[in-house]
Amino acid sequence: MPPESGENLEDSEKHMTNQSWFEVRKLAPGVWLIAEGAAINSYLVEGTEWAALIDTGMGIGNVRTEVEKLTQKPIVVINTHAHWDHVGGDYLFEAVAVHADEADDLAHVTCPPWMHERLAQPGTFSRPLPPDFDPSTYAIRAVQATQLLGHGSTIDLGGRQLQVLHTPGHTPGSICLLDEERRFLFTGDTIYSGPLYAHLSHSDLVAYHASAQMLASLAYELDLLFPAHGPTPLDGLILNEIAQGFEQLMKRQVAWQTVDTPRGLVRAATFDRFSILFKEEQLHDSHRQ
Ligand SMILES: [Zn+2]
Ligand SMILES: [Zn+2]
Repeated sequence: MPPESGENLEDSEKHMTNQSWFEVRKLAPGVWLIAEGAAINSYLVEGTEWAALIDTGMGIGNVRTEVEKLTQKPIVVINTHAHWDHVGGDYLFEAVAVHADEADDLAHVTCPPWMHERLAQPGTFSRPLPPDFDPSTYAIRAVQATQLLGHGSTIDLGGRQLQVLHTPGHTPGSICLLDEERRFLFTGDTIYSGPLYAHLSHSDLVAYHASAQMLASLAYELDLLFPAHGPTPLDGLILNEIAQGFEQLMKRQVAWQTVDTPRGLVRAATFDRFSILFKEEQLHDSHRQ
């Protein structure tokens, strides 16, 4: 139910915060956070004609049911990239847009094997799983994109336009979505306050650095950032901090530690509000370019 409907928002928010698999919260006019399992931030962004759902979470709960409580507008899904934990609810919608470089990944995406082990362990998520959820049949359903995006593509929602910024690095087809008029940026996994993943097999440290620099040039034109993980919203100044972090790392002017991840041991360069996970050979590769 939209918060404008007159029901006691504080009570309904409390109820959701304590009990629901999805946390639903209005963050700005026409912008709602729909966080799944307190782990993945998706956003519903409403125009006068359409609503955009920016990422769809893990598909453990039914995100369509949640967004239809908030809007009656037709919904277009826009994926910030094709990682499984951002596209799990795509199959519930008819219109799905993704950067052209990730259409193939979206059509073949699967759930990582360790996720099934995690689902069986209590305490993996800080919120209780939905009562009707069956871990034994859980899978990520791959979908065909109905719209392919590129840098500069515009999605017109009616009275609100989202402009695509291609920000490769975390993945080759990662995008951010700019609402220039309202000074908002939806940043996917490219920018958030937490460990930034530049170490994946398809990540590119040099491209990530360039994307962070491009975004930092917008820092003073943005009031709110809406990231796919961690605290939200964020201020625009973290764009400068992250660009500087990559700069220092590429110049090897920062110390790093070794950390254990599901993909083995990687390096972590730690800064005030974020860290950068990478592999040391990526630094050698960058020197050869
Ligand atoms: Zn990702
Ligand atoms: Zn992610």
